[in-house]
Amino acid sequence: MRRPAIALAVLVVVAGVVAFALHDDEPAPPPARTTTTPQQEANGPAWPRIAWRRSRAVGAPNDGRLVRGVQLPAEGPDWFTWDPVLERIPNRAWRRWGTDRLVHTLLRVLREYRAAHPEAPRVGVADLSRPHGRGFGPRYGGLGHASHQNGLDADVWYPRADRTERRAMRVPEVDRGLSQALVDAFVGAGAQKLYVGPDVGLRGPKGVVVPLVHHDDHVHVRIAPPPA
Ligand SMILES: [Zn+2]
Repeated sequence: MRRPAIALAVLVVVAGVVAFALHDDEPAPPPARTTTTPQQEANGPAWPRIAWRRSRAVGAPNDGRLVRGVQLPAEGPDWFTWDPVLERIPNRAWRRWGTDRLVHTLLRVLREYRAAHPEAPRVGVADLSRPHGRGFGPRYGGLGHASHQNGLDADVWYPRADRTERRAMRVPEVDRGLSQALVDAFVGAGAQKLYVGPDVGLRGPKGVVVPLVHHDDHVHVRIAPPPA
């Protein structure tokens, strides 16, 4: 009786190996569901991921807060972020929050501007709002911001004449033609207010493009709050 038992054991092992081999030959399972975002599909896999959600701008730019903000990625094909306090790429993560509308407007305008000016360098973006908005004064470094409190404001550096990706510290370093094109693009996108440097010589619709001190190195973009 011993021999049949051994034969049976061997048969079971062989059957197991055959079953395993057959299993191995089965077609590979379908790839995991794609997690590509619409932006990545439109712009290629290098496009940074953005966690979109419906945001709310509460209160006013000078006295408000941001609910369910969206973070602007550190850099992308058309932009880099620049820390205005540490003077470096990228801007710190907590200084890059806005409403979904603001981030979407920035990315769309910068993409269209760069498509129209392929020779232009990537655009520098500085502060938006803090993760939940509220005060962004001098205690957060530099001059601070009176506004930038509810996710509707963003500072955008003027393109430099030498095409380098950094802040233009002085007016002669600014490429006026490209800066005007950038301002025009934001006007075209329906920006509510664009504060520009009094000495840069940029133009636009009265009441929308407004000269203001401390803006000779960047344009402050404010979009309108979404309709209630
Ligand atoms: Zn600003």
